[in-house]
Amino acid sequence: MPKFVYDFTEGNKDLKDLLGGKGANLAEMTNLGLPVPPGFTITTESCRHYLEHGTLPEGLETEIDEHLAALEGAMGRKLGQPDDPLLVSVRSGAKFSMPGMMETVLNIGLNDESVAGLAAQAGDERFAWDSYRRLIQMFGKTVLDIDGDRFEDALEEAKRAKGVREDVELEAADFRALVGTFKNIVKHETGDDFPTDPREQMRMAMLAVFQSWNAPRAILYRRQERIPVDLGTAVNVCAMVFGNLGMDSGTGVAFTRDPASGHQGVYGDYLQNAQGEDVVAGIRNTVPLTELERIDKRSYDQLLDIMETLENHYRDMCDIEFTIERGKLWMLQTRVGKRTAAAAFRIACQLLDQGLIDADEAASRVTGDQLAQLMFPRFDTSAAEGARKLTKGMNASPGAAVGRAVFSSEAAVAAAERGEDVILVRRETNPDDLAGMVAARGVLTSRGGKTSHAAVVARGMGKTCVCGAEELEVDVKAGRFTAPGDVVVSEGDVISIDGTSGLVYLGEVPVQDSPVVQYFEGRLAASDGDELVTAVDRVMAHADARARMLVRANADTPEDAARARRFGAQGIGLCRTEHMFLGDRRQLVEKLILAETDEERFAALDALEPLQRADFEGIFEAMDGLPVTIRLIDPPLHEFLPDLTELSVKVALAGADADPQDRRLLEAVTRLHEQNPMLGLRGVRLGLAIPGLFMMQVKAIAEAAVARKEAGGDPRPEIMIPLVGAVQELEAVREEAEGVLRHVAESTGVAVHTLVGTMIEVPRAALTAGQIAESAEFFSFGTNDLTQMTWGFSRDDVEAAFFSRYLELGIFGVSPFETLDRDGVGRLVRIAVEEGRATRPDLKLGICGEHGGDPDSVHFCHEAGLDYVSCSPFRVPVARLEAGRAAI
Ligand code: PEP
Ligand code: MG
Repeated sequence: MPKFVYDFTEGNKDLKDLLGGKGANLAEMTNLGLPVPPGFTITTESCRHYLEHGTLPEGLETEIDEHLAALEGAMGRKLGQPDDPLLVSVRSGAKFSMPGMMETVLNIGLNDESVAGLAAQAGDERFAWDSYRRLIQMFGKTVLDIDGDRFEDALEEAKRAKGVREDVELEAADFRALVGTFKNIVKHETGDDFPTDPREQMRMAMLAVFQSWNAPRAILYRRQERIPVDLGTAVNVCAMVFGNLGMDSGTGVAFTRDPASGHQGVYGDYLQNAQGEDVVAGIRNTVPLTELERIDKRSYDQLLDIMETLENHYRDMCDIEFTIERGKLWMLQTRVGKRTAAAAFRIACQLLDQGLIDADEAASRVTGDQLAQLMFPRFDTSAAEGARKLTKGMNASPGAAVGRAVFSSEAAVAAAERGEDVILVRRETNPDDLAGMVAARGVLTSRGGKTSHAAVVARGMGKTCVCGAEELEVDVKAGRFTAPGDVVVSEGDVISIDGTSGLVYLGEVPVQDSPVVQYFEGRLAASDGDELVTAVDRVMAHADARARMLVRANADTPEDAARARRFGAQGIGLCRTEHMFLGDRRQLVEKLILAETDEERFAALDALEPLQRADFEGIFEAMDGLPVTIRLIDPPLHEFLPDLTELSVKVALAGADADPQDRRLLEAVTRLHEQNPMLGLRGVRLGLAIPGLFMMQVKAIAEAAVARKEAGGDPRPEIMIPLVGAVQELEAVREEAEGVLRHVAESTGVAVHTLVGTMIEVPRAALTAGQIAESAEFFSFGTNDLTQMTWGFSRDDVEAAFFSRYLELGIFGVSPFETLDRDGVGRLVRIAVEEGRATRPDLKLGICGEHGGDPDSVHFCHEAGLDYVSCSPFRVPVARLEAGRAAI
């Protein structure tokens, strides 16, 4: 029989799969001897069983009863006991933290009898009735699915009737009356009475937590964060401790280091006389944690001690939720804390210097996605100085965002759909704002600290966020906010927010490169004193040393090649030559396509050849001494011709007066028109169908290499044939190419070693890789086409057409055009690697589809045994880091 319930003393931090992050860490803290209220965790397996079958697994209820009895024994009172009730919290806790996405119910165990017991024990009637109304409110909203506004409105009404503004001004009798009102709401909305049996309350809360795994906002969050859909959540049942028992009580959140900068110190927020949810929701403004020293020095000192213990134990920055109940400190949660990308690099190096982790672990503590975030632009400093500052809030999540102010999640989504950049402005955000946060360029709130929902979620998404800008008066209903000096910003006005400094500007502030990009560009040195740049430099050096795979770039111009090289590219993995046929050269290509005689065709090719040669010379020079893979022309020819419909209309309208050139063009366009151009006359097929085209390119490559060599350079060309599906296609091109290479070598007297290889981007090529390797000196996986053809998804159409639906349905967690589909496309890659190498053991293997710059796909390429990945120049540092991390 599987075990479904674990006491906090039974688990540990490595059981996150089973106990969720919260449960595993509560157990770890319990075992460290820290002051954790007793409790137990119901496993994620129970949740998965329930979600799959709609029933609880056999034996679960009995196990819960046993653990509850043990908990009651430890506490010396029973759940809901009338004269001295044990109350519990029921909280969700998945393997990966999903802040605010799932449910929590506090104060379980209260009813009409036990509320009196609680009042007597606490010596506080008001507290007891407030706790009871909070239970009905939370339970009603989360478990019984009643619109939360019903309760909020009743609360507001009670305050209005009494002529007060704040909850704290309400008295015991007011809360007692509210309990009655709330019960009536429950009865009215559900047809049933509020459940007063404590054990039943607990059971219903547990089921609601299980179900909340599939709440729409949780689904959306998982998709964003790429959290698997089928993990389920654990449920933590924990004895309640109260932060709202007076001014000697309170609740707070703390970090062992600054989650934005990584600096050591005391970081966190504290709220006196409040329950935990009040802090996270950012409903009331907190005080900085350092204030606690003045308020309650004993608890403060103990908390700092615990924070040190936790950081040394976890060997990482932790975040903590705690409650002080009448001067006694309780730990309610800890976990390895979320942090900004900059803090991740800094903290990794700080911990390395402290000797808590080694260099391998430091590199594994940062990710390519974080590095990519650090490469985002920021505001131009001098422009920002001159810009109109509206206010300064908290720098919750770094970056520079410019956009039109919008005041609701819906407006943000609608604007983003119209292609507009927007900043979502709210007093505070809650989980219902998630879609708007995803759609917006940045988030600005007027309330809540660095641990508020807006801050935590934005940091997780890498989205720019300024929170707690208290000087702003946000009027969501009216669609405007007012800044000091009576500046009114209305929906649609452009603002700029700086998530690094917390500054908010009116209008658009220009942005500039990040220091990390300047460092990669060689414009800023690691020794220049920028702490972040130094940390990035150290981590990158270690990643480069550990990486087995090389990183190349996809680049088609000498400028891109040079930039890629500065970013650390070790060659070019894909030079798309068709990009050299655009602009004013399009005319020449048109002539080639329209040629009716060999003479005309060769004249057109002759005109193109010197241009191509010059292109290649420039690239070889920029990549001197490093391999340059040049792919012969790939796309369908009609891409170089005018649009069929437009041209037909033009010729038809001109009637008898139509330009004869246009008529010829129309004929050619009509002839070349294809229903499925991506599966038509392109790649090697084009090379074989249009004599001379490929060989013009081969000649240009060979002559460019000779010219570079004669100039004292070290060109390393690799000629790549696209879209091959059968070895015979490759052989035909190869034979001819070798002839051209020989001819150039003989006529110039200069030999340049040139590899000839192919792309593997048609499933048949992967499946016959053993044969193809007979004729190919290298393979480069074109995973854009390979994904398109393996799934049968048109890469140009489907993402917009139905991918969001597929993501919603969980058919895949992320687009296979973004992250390589290991099971399908990956299997083809593995087959080709294995069979290709069996034929030719020294076969060089790389990837040049977009996946070459995607962190997860880079790890796959490492595992599959590729020699290199190739990606766009800007992604090169990301791929280098991930190639290193994959080897650790
Ligand atoms: C590919 O198909 O993965 C590839 C790199 O080629 P292209 O994107 O140019 O078709
Ligand atoms: Mg391709």
